[in-house]
Amino acid sequence: MADMIECSTHGQCQATYVCTHLTGETAGLGFNHDEPTDEDPFPDAFCDDCNTILEALGGWNEEAEKLIKISLLCSGCYERARIRNTKTDVTLDDLKDLRWKCTSCDEWHTGPMLDIGYDAPWYWTKKHAEADRKARLLPSWHRERPKTFLNEDFCALIDDDGHENFFVRGLIHLPIIGAGETFRWGVWGSLSRANFEKLLEMDEDPKRTELPAMFSWLSNRVPEYPDTLNLKMYAHIQPVGIRPTFFLEPSDHPLAQEYHHGISAERVKEIMLRQVKELKG
Ligand SMILES: [Zn+2]
Ligand SMILES: [Zn+2]
Ligand SMILES: [Zn+2]
Repeated sequence: MADMIECSTHGQCQATYVCTHLTGETAGLGFNHDEPTDEDPFPDAFCDDCNTILEALGGWNEEAEKLIKISLLCSGCYERARIRNTKTDVTLDDLKDLRWKCTSCDEWHTGPMLDIGYDAPWYWTKKHAEADRKARLLPSWHRERPKTFLNEDFCALIDDDGHENFFVRGLIHLPIIGAGETFRWGVWGSLSRANFEKLLEMDEDPKRTELPAMFSWLSNRVPEYPDTLNLKMYAHIQPVGIRPTFFLEPSDHPLAQEYHHGISAERVKEIMLRQVKELKG
């Protein structure tokens, strides 16, 4: 049986060992290990420098023990360290000179584009926008929340079946392989009425970070993937002024795969090619 440890981020997880360089927020140091097996899915991992020492010494022995410091990590943190430190042919640094014309502001920007967002959930239609516009003209608008409205963070709407639906805007962070950065999809997720009202009520309350994670269905059709509508997520509420972070439930869906195992810088560039007006460099 593998040893288990308690991690403050990941909970009860399998214990793993890595060289001390691979802990913390380092990136791009290399992540070397034996092939994972069923018995040992998280083999001991070493940065490139420690791996060179290890190879010169012919494997782990007393001498290596003196030269290489080892740290204990939970399997969740091991996976994060793997994504950050795995080396790729194209790195995020290679994208730093790219010049691109932005679809939202029409200006030229330099460097990788790491944020793509949506102003509304996929279910928000012209009809809803019209209802919202009319409701805002009513004197009661400031007193009671209309059944259909959209602002920068929240949305409520009545669908064709007469059901009320509630949404919050948040971020899906995809860790970039070989980097300490994330690529971010700014999307909308559904919420239950109770959670939606709780969140509106606590919009300015620092205590809102204590709210438990909220179940949510992904409510945008994110391009670049097979249909993403209704992927299962959990909204983790952040401090006042910061949008929630969505945790994607593990599945075979490519977006969930990239969420849990990282996205390559090469793929970030591919996405840019299709999502910006013009790309140079
Ligand atoms: Zn090392
Ligand atoms: Zn952990
Ligand atoms: Zn822009």
